[in-house]
Amino acid sequence: MRADWEVVIGLETHAQLTTASKIFSGASTAFGAPPNTQASAVDIALPGTLPVLNKGAVERAIRFGLAVGGTIAQRCVFARKNYFYPDLPKGYQISQYEQPVVAGGTLSFLLDGAVKTVRLTRAHLEEDAGKLLHEAVPGSSGVDLNRAGTPLLEIVTEPDMRSAAEAVAYAKALHALVRWIGICDGNMQEGSFRCDANVSVRKPGGALGTRCEIKNLNSFRFLEKAIEYEIRRQVEVIEDGGKIVQETRLYDPDRDETRSMRSKEDAHDYRYFPDPDLLPLAIDRAWIDRVGGAMTALPDALRGRYISQLGLSLYDAMLLTESREKAAFFDEVMKADVQAKIAANWVNGEVSALLNDAGLEFDRSPVSGGQLSRILQLIADGTLSGKGAKEVLREVARGDSATGDVDEIVASKNLKQISDGGAIEAAVDQVMAANPKLVEDYRSGKEKAFNALVGQVMKATQGKANPAQVNAALKKKLG
Ligand code: ADP
Ligand code: MG
Repeated sequence: MRADWEVVIGLETHAQLTTASKIFSGASTAFGAPPNTQASAVDIALPGTLPVLNKGAVERAIRFGLAVGGTIAQRCVFARKNYFYPDLPKGYQISQYEQPVVAGGTLSFLLDGAVKTVRLTRAHLEEDAGKLLHEAVPGSSGVDLNRAGTPLLEIVTEPDMRSAAEAVAYAKALHALVRWIGICDGNMQEGSFRCDANVSVRKPGGALGTRCEIKNLNSFRFLEKAIEYEIRRQVEVIEDGGKIVQETRLYDPDRDETRSMRSKEDAHDYRYFPDPDLLPLAIDRAWIDRVGGAMTALPDALRGRYISQLGLSLYDAMLLTESREKAAFFDEVMKADVQAKIAANWVNGEVSALLNDAGLEFDRSPVSGGQLSRILQLIADGTLSGKGAKEVLREVARGDSATGDVDEIVASKNLKQISDGGAIEAAVDQVMAANPKLVEDYRSGKEKAFNALVGQVMKATQGKANPAQVNAALKKKLG
């Protein structure tokens, strides 16, 4: 880039809600059925049909509002968003416009080791459209209306993000949250979680630039790539003396570029008006309280507890609450008498790395929370060295042992740390005798020789000697 440009990004995310039936009909929302087998008369808008709101969809929206600290509307209204497209048989999409179910709220996440907070504008309920099939019917396009009427929560942010990496970190945090509270399965291949990225650039501190919206990004990688491409494109256009045209663009992953799809409609183009088929929705305090009371502990609450009761840092607490499964794993470890900071380090470090390598989530960890806590206890009482403990962790993960009993694995694999003073002294004597030059060097003032001697003792004991004891014994004998 030839000049300093500030990037501005706002995301709109469509999260498919986990209800069994659609938002305004009783048809199934299950994925993968043959085309048009799950489209009811309501979904295809046959004359005389009327929508009936699915309470479960509203309940999930309330959960979301509570989880992000937003305001849940006591009264909200469904609106018709009018446009023509073959996958939308009614000629309008039922959505919410002026009175969405959730207003405000925030989402916090880690970016480069620091906590970032993005403000949410709103979250509203709406129905999904159908899908055009361009390959299923030779010579023509087919329409599959199974998706029509699928409940979505559209979550809109303020233009708070400043890089593609930040947008991805936000999207990942949102993805983890909607799964945490059980309102969306987060399956991105099946389209259950899709992002639209609004991107503009400006001179730092200046007014917001004209934005383009890149539609339907269904992987974190595509989200990042599409935004990066779009930033480059916009800067180039402006630096070449051109102007950004507000438009909707599509990302083509094969060519790694965004392409213009249509000029951007403004809200008035949609002729929004309240849907006369649906009454305004009243949500009373008692309902919100019931929903809140039935929810599992939220990430924010857990973080608060980890910090105030366990003395962990905000950074550690953020990492531990990256997913509900990870936090549950940590809680399991903490059921035993172990030090919180050490447990957090192992969960965020060794265990996360192990799962990452195996492509597994914490709920499918080959090492249980109980097994890890036993390993940590064996470090604390001196039975295992840090290095030995890592080996034990890998042995446990391998799952070869019939019982999975940590003490048994330590014994059978001979991984115990040598803390027997006599054995250590013997090893030290042996190493000193075999390395007179190092001993000499140390005694004549070369401090470095000491570390070399420690290294030799560790080698002689296959890394099993207690390092603190080795240090002490060497110091004593070297005089
Ligand atoms: P629409 O509903 O027409 O897409 P909104 O005004 O609701 O438009 O904004 C949609 C998204 O675009 C929001 O996430 C908002 O933060 C973001 N946005 C608005 N203006 C800009 C801008 N100049 N640059 C980047 N993002 C923007
Ligand atoms: Mg939009």
